[in-house]
Amino acid sequence: VIEVIVIGAGVIGSSVAYRLAQAGAQVTIFETHRVCGGTSATSFAWVNSNNKPPRAYHDLNVAGIRTHMALVEEFGSTPWWHNGGSIEWEADEDAWRAQREKVERLRTWGYAVEWISPRQLHDMEPDVELSVVGGAPIAYYPDEGWLDPVPYAHAMLEAAARFGATLHLGVRVVDVRVYGGRATGVQVEGGGIYGADVVVNCAGRWANDVIKTRELHIPLAPTVGILVCTPPMPTCLRRIVRTPYCDVRPDGGGRLMLHQREIDNTVRADVEPSLELPQAAELVRRAARILPNVGTDRPESVRIGVRPIPADGYSAVGPVPGISGYYVVITHSGVTLSPFLGHVAAEEIVKGRIVPQLEPFRPGRFFPSP
Ligand SMILES: Cc1cc2nc3c(=O)[nH]c(=O)nc-3n(C[C@H](O)[C@H](O)[C@H](O)COP(=O)(O)OP(=O)(O)OC[C@H]3O[C@@H](n4cnc5c(N)ncnc54)[C@H](O)[C@@H]3O)c2cc1C
Repeated sequence: VIEVIVIGAGVIGSSVAYRLAQAGAQVTIFETHRVCGGTSATSFAWVNSNNKPPRAYHDLNVAGIRTHMALVEEFGSTPWWHNGGSIEWEADEDAWRAQREKVERLRTWGYAVEWISPRQLHDMEPDVELSVVGGAPIAYYPDEGWLDPVPYAHAMLEAAARFGATLHLGVRVVDVRVYGGRATGVQVEGGGIYGADVVVNCAGRWANDVIKTRELHIPLAPTVGILVCTPPMPTCLRRIVRTPYCDVRPDGGGRLMLHQREIDNTVRADVEPSLELPQAAELVRRAARILPNVGTDRPESVRIGVRPIPADGYSAVGPVPGISGYYVVITHSGVTLSPFLGHVAAEEIVKGRIVPQLEPFRPGRFFPSP
């Protein structure tokens, strides 16, 4: 039996651990905080391949969406997965042109998208204030949805445990041990050493902190994001609605989650999340334009997260050159991609099958050939 250590229990590590254990590996997971104690708990968690060129990256994300959908058959019920699609309109003629081009491209690639009228928007989401849509074209992407990342990761880890996986919470990996060009296990804080045939690095934005050998680091270009959740609201919003003001989606119990990319650019990673941040009030003000019921309530919570993004923006999945027995899965859009990447990483690690779809995303692209 192949022994595998997985570092990190976010959406990626928990998905990888489940598929590894199911494929027959003896899996041990080390997580320094709690399940989804990192970026996965500070994610807008929109499951999509809405604007992810080139084609190979688009297809990878489509595989993520399909794998989320397929989990319903496997688990019977998937309360963490919210389908129903997303709705989008843009601000002005330049943005409308770009949106039209995007929709055409997505259609050519076979992605589900349709134009809807303001009347249809009203039928689907009666709480949305139609006057703010103006004359903007409205696009509807029926296959998209969003995820509750923490219940999802918990379900994957529960399923992994049924196949014998062991989860150690509150244990920080301080190094991946390398001997004779091979990863032999990990050292944890306090000095403990654990051996394994394969170590899988799923530590997200901390991926380079868990291995001291600098030559094995993956160049990262992280970005910061801010999310605001409202208190429970009298709204029946069901879908993700993406607008020039902000993006909004339900977040359970009547709460709404709000996000806006330009506002992200005004936040630094070391800022303490606080209800008093001007960005939080601004997001609520913007949301009230789209959903008047939001009113002027203070936010209920504010989250600040850092996206784990390999330097060229695309996923890094696979072995790292110069070392055997070491595999990384580091990516932005990890909520969308996690169930698919878990599946294919296990295929490669346990069954030794090379998954061609992963070839453009190999970590080797960051390392000069010898
Ligand atoms: C604001 C924002 C919005 C986003 N929106 C979306 C979206 O709409 N759709 C989408 O698909 N993606 C989105 N993302 C990206 C997505 O959330 C991430 O790609 C995903 O959560 C990464 O998951 P992960 O498991 O790799 O990382 P993490 O969730 O960070 O998991 C890594 C884990 O490793 C643990 N760890 C770290 N160091 C150690 C150590 N030394 N020893 C042991 N454990 C360790 C951490 O505690 C953590 O739990 C968003 C991200 C942000 C910040």
